[in-house]
Amino acid sequence: MFCEKCGKEIADEAVMCVSCGNSLQLIQSNTTPKDKLPKLPNAIATLVLGICSIVFCCGIGTICGIVALAISGESNKLLNENPDGYSDAGNHKAGRICAIIGLILSGLFLIYYIAIVGLYASNPYYY
Ligand SMILES: [Zn+2]
Repeated sequence: MFCEKCGKEIADEAVMCVSCGNSLQLIQSNTTPKDKLPKLPNAIATLVLGICSIVFCCGIGTICGIVALAISGESNKLLNENPDGYSDAGNHKAGRICAIIGLILSGLFLIYYIAIVGLYASNPYYY
């Protein structure tokens, strides 16, 4: 590779230029491309389970939503500490949002179900 400051050819593993003393490690770490960033653990799994929690809504979907939130808890902590440090934060966030929506839908269905059962139970001759 070549020194960015003076243009002299230097060893690829060099941490500083032998000609001008320019620190090369600093430049390399500042220009890390986005696809080189580490991936969040479970980001794809969170997204898949989050979508499942909406698609299957109640029963299996409820379990998917709970699992999605559970496995993404650790990633959420990592992301809060370093919001720009991960390449697939979008999948992680979308997965959690889907899981929360799925759980809300499940919750609403449960309330609806209890209300219907309660209505019939309190009015035995309703139908
Ligand atoms: Zn140099």
